[in-house]
Amino acid sequence: MSVKTEILKLKEELPSNVKLVAVSKFHPLDAVKEAYEAGQRVFGESRPQELYSKVVEIQSSPDYSKGTYADIEWHFIGHLQTNKLKFVLPYVTMVESVDSLKLLEAIDNWSAAAGKVTDVLLEYHIAAEDTKQGFDAGQIKEILLSGRHYPNVRIRGLMGMATFTDDEDIIRADFSRLVGLKSELDKCKTISPVPANLTSDFDTLSFGMTHDYRIAVEMGADIVRIGTMIFGERDYSK
Ligand SMILES: *Cc1c(COP(=O)(O)O)cnc(C)c1O
Repeated sequence: MSVKTEILKLKEELPSNVKLVAVSKFHPLDAVKEAYEAGQRVFGESRPQELYSKVVEIQSSPDYSKGTYADIEWHFIGHLQTNKLKFVLPYVTMVESVDSLKLLEAIDNWSAAAGKVTDVLLEYHIAAEDTKQGFDAGQIKEILLSGRHYPNVRIRGLMGMATFTDDEDIIRADFSRLVGLKSELDKCKTISPVPANLTSDFDTLSFGMTHDYRIAVEMGADIVRIGTMIFGERDYSK
């Protein structure tokens, strides 16, 4: 199957209100270009240096000056160290993987200095494995309801990754924690005064990858992040 075929298949399958992030990490820029030609515009990367290299490479391609690729939207979806912000924040429309207070504060500070507001999702640790990053539910509520205000960050919603398993019940249970927390927080939007970090812009749930995106769509994902199905297996030795 080609990248193009997979993109077209997904576009047909996904409801129009679900945003597809094509996860291009560990794949060359040519793969991004191929997906772009099939109409894909949103790409996900998880390593700062790799994202940065792809952006630089694409901006120096001859087609770029003619306007091609200028409408690509990059989402950062991996663990982000605070000393790597400059490789990421100028180029992305969203950081989906904010997994610590320290990172949230650093993004806020960087964005203030750059005179912009950065869209982020808070990563909610829903999986059984403790290798996956993220906040617990209490920390997320604290940030959104009683934490300090982050004026240069717009918290758009939550991101999560289910346990890596073929057991659909476990995946569903993980995803329901995410959906449940989102709806609990949605109810808090009517609190008066409205909590500063919880605005009407808090409207996005990002969950679902190659092996579980169908369940995610069924359960109400706004964003799905799909890599392997589109681009094939990743070679982690690269
Ligand atoms: C790599 C990655 C994906 C894509 O996973 P696939 O199984 O290849 O679809 C999605 N989300 C995050 C956070 C990732 O790191």
